[in-house]
Amino acid sequence: MTTEQFATRHIGPGPDDERRMLEAVGYGSIDELMDAAIPEVIRWHGTLDLPDPATEAEAIAELRALAGHNTVAVSMIGLGYHGTHTPAVIRRNVLENPAWYTAYTPYQPEISQGRLEALLNFQTMVTDLTGLATANASMLDEGTAAAEAMTLARRASKSKSPVYVVDADALPQTVAVIASRAEPLGIEVRVLDLDVEDLPGEFFGLHLQYPGACGAVRDHAALVEAAHGVRALVTVAADLLALTLLRAPGEIGADIAAGTTQRFGVPMGFGGPHAGYLAVRSGLERMLPGRLVGVSRDADGNPAYRLALQTREQHIRREKATSNICTAQVLLAVMAGMYAVYHGPDGLRAIAARTHEMAGRLAAGLRAGGVQVADVAFFDTVTASVPGRAAEVVAAAAERGVNLRLVDADRVGVSCDETTTRAHLEAVWAAFGVPAFDGAVDVALPPALARTSEFLTHPVFSSHHSETAMLRYLRRLADFDYALDRGMIPLGSCTMKLNATTEMEPVTWAEFAHVHPFAPAEQTAGYRELIGQLEGWLAELTGYDAVSVQPNAGSQGELAGLLAIRGYHRERGEGHRDVCLIPSSAHGTNAASAVMAGMRVVVVACDDDGNVDLVDLDAKIDKHRDALAAIMVTYPSTHGVYETGIAQLCAKVHDAGGQVYVDGANLNALVGFAKPGKFGADVSHLNLHKTFCIPHGGGGPGVGPVAVRAHLQPFLPGDPGAGHDSTRPAISAARYGSAGILPIPWAYLRMMGGAGLTRATGVAVLAANYVAARLRDHFPVLYAGNKGLVAHECILDLRPLTKSTGVSVDDVAKRLIDYGFHAPTMSFPVAGTLMVEPTESEDLAELDRFCAAMIAIRAEIDKVAAGEWPVGDNPLANAPHTAAMVSGDEWPHAYPRSVGAYPDGVDRAGKYWPPVRRIDGAYGDRNLVCSCPSPEAFES
Ligand SMILES: *Cc1c(COP(=O)(O)O)cnc(C)c1O
Repeated sequence: MTTEQFATRHIGPGPDDERRMLEAVGYGSIDELMDAAIPEVIRWHGTLDLPDPATEAEAIAELRALAGHNTVAVSMIGLGYHGTHTPAVIRRNVLENPAWYTAYTPYQPEISQGRLEALLNFQTMVTDLTGLATANASMLDEGTAAAEAMTLARRASKSKSPVYVVDADALPQTVAVIASRAEPLGIEVRVLDLDVEDLPGEFFGLHLQYPGACGAVRDHAALVEAAHGVRALVTVAADLLALTLLRAPGEIGADIAAGTTQRFGVPMGFGGPHAGYLAVRSGLERMLPGRLVGVSRDADGNPAYRLALQTREQHIRREKATSNICTAQVLLAVMAGMYAVYHGPDGLRAIAARTHEMAGRLAAGLRAGGVQVADVAFFDTVTASVPGRAAEVVAAAAERGVNLRLVDADRVGVSCDETTTRAHLEAVWAAFGVPAFDGAVDVALPPALARTSEFLTHPVFSSHHSETAMLRYLRRLADFDYALDRGMIPLGSCTMKLNATTEMEPVTWAEFAHVHPFAPAEQTAGYRELIGQLEGWLAELTGYDAVSVQPNAGSQGELAGLLAIRGYHRERGEGHRDVCLIPSSAHGTNAASAVMAGMRVVVVACDDDGNVDLVDLDAKIDKHRDALAAIMVTYPSTHGVYETGIAQLCAKVHDAGGQVYVDGANLNALVGFAKPGKFGADVSHLNLHKTFCIPHGGGGPGVGPVAVRAHLQPFLPGDPGAGHDSTRPAISAARYGSAGILPIPWAYLRMMGGAGLTRATGVAVLAANYVAARLRDHFPVLYAGNKGLVAHECILDLRPLTKSTGVSVDDVAKRLIDYGFHAPTMSFPVAGTLMVEPTESEDLAELDRFCAAMIAIRAEIDKVAAGEWPVGDNPLANAPHTAAMVSGDEWPHAYPRSVGAYPDGVDRAGKYWPPVRRIDGAYGDRNLVCSCPSPEAFES
């Protein structure tokens, strides 16, 4: 192989490393190892039908060509997606900065203070602008945020009515997503034109758009009051930029606000990714889905951030979970929050005022030219009547490089934004056939709706307005955090592998970044070609017949797959099948998704070896035979084992008339060696943000394509845009979901080729078995399959040590920080254990550094056991150690400072120092604070 082969860059271990690793594991070659590890019943022996691998330079050239097939037009379509200027300092230092984009979800808060602070800024921005008490740290998009608001309203409302009323002037894609989510739950959605139609007598919730899709800014106060009168909750889907000028939803009594933060500096990306938001009034915060950042304190009593109320996580709540959201949109939330930090309240108000002024000028010009413009208050969007001529006007504008919204045959929508210029207005006027306009413009919003309350008053929103200050703030926060750019993140089930720079580069190219999801098809040919190829390659890797990239996280892929199963049974007149079997070891999103798909979850036990208990499976199938809809299994199992019973399991479920869903988040152990679509499964989702190199972003973005065999193809997600076909569910708001990051997996597959991908799988499995072999004598490896081998991850069982010494899995995880590592996955899927997934990207030196740290930690545990260090005061119990702690004037501990600060093998010059000591999560949950604390809180 030459150095030009990308695979040799992506895969960490070289030939010498590989030999040594194989020796430690006891196999002569990777082929031998894989033959022994993977059960023959699922093994696929063909050659992947993918194009020969491209070099990095070739892949970039091909992507340039694809990008060239997209046309970047001026977008004035609106409908929740707007042009925006991403401040260059944020683009380069967040979106293009691995310190931010390669970070993991902040479950280890001590090494995540930077992104937690950034998310707290985001939450503060949302609560301030919406006038509500608590906002979460992002949703997947506006459509899914609105759907989650609906289910929240249902849980919280005292009304028994199944009716959910949706304003006819809501965004069409939001209505589609709401309808798709409502149907399986038995919620009856009623779309009403509330300007003319009355509210029904009973309903549990009301969804209002503010401003409406047509641009109208309505006073919703009376509707809110009427809804509250029948014990319904009100969601206002609000545009945050408009809210800098308009009365906040919370100020007119809304219970919930939902929407997107896209226009706060996040490119449209042909539909995503962007951070949706969800905020609630006080009293509802404990029902809020998604992740919530809160303030707590560390072991020294200093304020510190961490995820609040973590017991709400689906991992823990499973079928009692009320939402399946797991991966969200952290990176984009960080960007949107920083946009607010950079502009501050006055800057945002100025951007909004200018946008409003442009829309006012546009309308005045149209009116002066004799075009009828809807006589309503508006913020940025104008709807013009041109009877019979709408298509003609839209085409004329497109010819001038401007996209408008075709509302219907008689009406055109035009939406202004931060990027709108005088030249754009002139192009629009010309398209309407009216002269350019220079007259005076009256642009006041109705006084009753004008915003009078302050927002973004926290000092963070007025301290970083120069580029120098912003640059340093971003650097300061990034330096707090541990991401893949510092070292290994061996997180079982999360596959934290290389996110290559070449894969990332196209994401910020204008031809991919600045495309509206509803842009005319002829402008998006490059995207469609790229997506078509990617879907084809994913089908080849998985053995399925069709793939949809619409779901924008694994959880959404699960829902899409289960809805396909539901659609299939109903089509065959077997709509009564509603039982979903789920093994007890499953990822929590599985059960939550099944409930959202209208299914009943029945848990199947695991046996002592961690495998699905086939005897219990038989019993559950017998009991539920006629109602059996599906089984949902993860393969390899969440225990990291290739279960041999999988083919039998599939056959048993099929015999009973059920469908088999294989959770494909662990595909890194299968690519090139086994295809779920060929070994008996009907449908899977994949996590492109795990196996296929989309970076984790600190907790998103993700892409969770759903892949199906031919019989389920008719039930794949449909286009949620205008003309939504209600026989296919709308899973996310845009047809191709988070299209803007699809160049990443495309580039990965294009550069690896079939042989490279197969080798990556082999090395990933080798690395996991190498770690298991090296650590087995120090920590028992909980489960193994054939010949004592694991798949791509291994579970280290700490429970016996905890029992005998009191040293907990937490202590080990935090002590790893002192050694310069991110902890493995903690207590999932088995409490009291650590799950290690090294991936193929870590070289042998890094694997050895990790093993050495774990072995040294074991020796430290032994000292506690031997009584050399007291149980409550030792380097494990006090971990992690901050610089402030070990350089303090007092040192009351039973071990030297140097042992705390620089344990065995740590490079003193390259030491990573966590900014805070261990955080007390429970304290923060008792004293819930989810917006920026005052600076005084940090005074010591
Ligand atoms: C990560 C994961 C999921 C959920 O994916 P998200 O993108 O976080 O929604 C589901 N199942 C398994 C096994 C996973 O590891």
